[in-house]
Amino acid sequence: MNRKKTVLVVVAHADDMEFLAAGTVARFVRECGYDVYEYILTDNSKGSYRLAPEELIAVSAREAIEAGRVLGLKEVRLEGYPDAYLNETNPNVLRGRIMSMIREVKADIVMSWDPFAPYEDHPDHRVTGMAAYEAASFSGNPLFHPEHAHAPYPATEAYWFAKVPTNADLFVDISSTIDTKLEALLKHDCQMLLTIDGLVQEAKSVGAEIHALANLGPDGHRALIDAAIRSFCAETGEEAGMPYAEQFRYQKLGMLDKVLGTAYVTPDFPM
Ligand SMILES: [Zn+2]
Repeated sequence: MNRKKTVLVVVAHADDMEFLAAGTVARFVRECGYDVYEYILTDNSKGSYRLAPEELIAVSAREAIEAGRVLGLKEVRLEGYPDAYLNETNPNVLRGRIMSMIREVKADIVMSWDPFAPYEDHPDHRVTGMAAYEAASFSGNPLFHPEHAHAPYPATEAYWFAKVPTNADLFVDISSTIDTKLEALLKHDCQMLLTIDGLVQEAKSVGAEIHALANLGPDGHRALIDAAIRSFCAETGEEAGMPYAEQFRYQKLGMLDKVLGTAYVTPDFPM
């Protein structure tokens, strides 16, 4: 039962989606013909060892929009909550913001951080996942946030991603989109430099000299990230017999399949 679906990706930071789900997003856009929206909750103002927060906010927003263009997203929306302080936002307000966007774009699929993944260290990821879970679970209920301008709309599926995906049950073959994923990820240049600067600092603290890092040319960090992410996706794929993969905990929301059978809500990738 194939119908056109709309996808909403809810993340804390500008590059979260590109690291863990952009290959799948590119397949949704290209192969399924779905409209995909990205909703970035924070202003990304903690993501650099080099730039001041104000500059970083502007640069990371620009990079997120460029990455969205590479992936063919309908829109990249930036909410602008202070980075690393999402847990100070009223949870019901945050849930309401996400629910409002689900209703506005009529999202059938919600993708976000898995609220139940273990060992997640970033508070923004934990908060984002739980708020997205609550929003996706009750977006069809007219008594939840009746102040919204848009009519209730029940999301029917969720793809939850995680840094430590111990609960994942769906592998998506991203061999056809790995190059696009990398192209989108590498648009986040300031975040890629953050990754490298973090590694250099870690290495210093243990007295290690990492030649690959010490001798990086102006574009060297890009080649390094490219190779690291390709090998990460290849490792994920190995578990499922795929050249490159991303993995998710897939969830059907609501009760439709329990009442009418499973044919009405079907995942777009084999489980
Ligand atoms: Zn993040």
